[in-house]
Amino acid sequence: MSTLPQTQQFERNPRPAPKNPSEPIPSPTSRPPALRPYYDALFTAHGPQHWWPGRTPFEIIVGAILVQNTSWTNVATAIENLRREKLLTPRAIESISTPRLARLIRSSGYFRQKTKKLKAFVSFLRREYQRSLAKMFRAATDVLRQQLLAVHGIGPETADSILLYAGNHPVFVVDAYTRRILERHNLASPKLGYEDVRQLFEQTLPPDPALYNEFHALIVHTGKHFCRPREPRCGECPLNFLLPVTRSAPSLVSVPEPAPEHLLDSVTEPLPVAERSSGLSPERTAAT
Ligand code: SF4
Repeated sequence: MSTLPQTQQFERNPRPAPKNPSEPIPSPTSRPPALRPYYDALFTAHGPQHWWPGRTPFEIIVGAILVQNTSWTNVATAIENLRREKLLTPRAIESISTPRLARLIRSSGYFRQKTKKLKAFVSFLRREYQRSLAKMFRAATDVLRQQLLAVHGIGPETADSILLYAGNHPVFVVDAYTRRILERHNLASPKLGYEDVRQLFEQTLPPDPALYNEFHALIVHTGKHFCRPREPRCGECPLNFLLPVTRSAPSLVSVPEPAPEHLLDSVTEPLPVAERSSGLSPERTAAT
């Protein structure tokens, strides 16, 4: 993974923040927010995150589907089961019986639904791309994105994770952590939809898959360890200096968790590649 050049000048967000933290956050202006300083600050503080774990693009896709609404620890067990049974190929997933597949991925939760989703994806891959992921990822980004969104069980977050992390396409992955950070920094309104938030990043940043890969992983790390739903650790967070001036850490209001419908396609934090060989970290749990 490339190390991206750092910008030298950080901008403080000039948008006015409410004096009273209970006041609603003002609507962002139509001007795209300056997001590069966020990336630079996070990369400087935490370095490369080595996402996404997976030995092959297909394994990454399986992980992206299985991690919906669960922790990576649970997914890792399911993937290990599939690997042990030599089932981590599109042909094998298509051939295996539905009950046996469901048993093997049981640890990932919602296993009956996820069995259908895996079957739907490999069926799509055979039908449209003769089971060739190389052929699939040669498709134009917008075309493939629309095709993936039409597959049962693949929503925007999963489609974009597949495109970016398995296919190296320049699409930004948005999740609950991204929204929380943007909202707390007055960069996005809670009313913005998934596509709006994705556009904020893609209109502001160059279409660089390595940058998108690393930035999303750094956002997840920040959301998990600093920008928690309640009692955010702003004092220790590398993004503290980018907080709106009047929204300092002690007065930050809690940003509620997303509504359940946002979680239907929620992808939680995979283990960095570096940690796969050393076992699973017990502290890594579902997104909080
Ligand atoms: S923890 Fe505080 S400083 Fe860090 S991203 Fe969240 S709101 Fe910003």
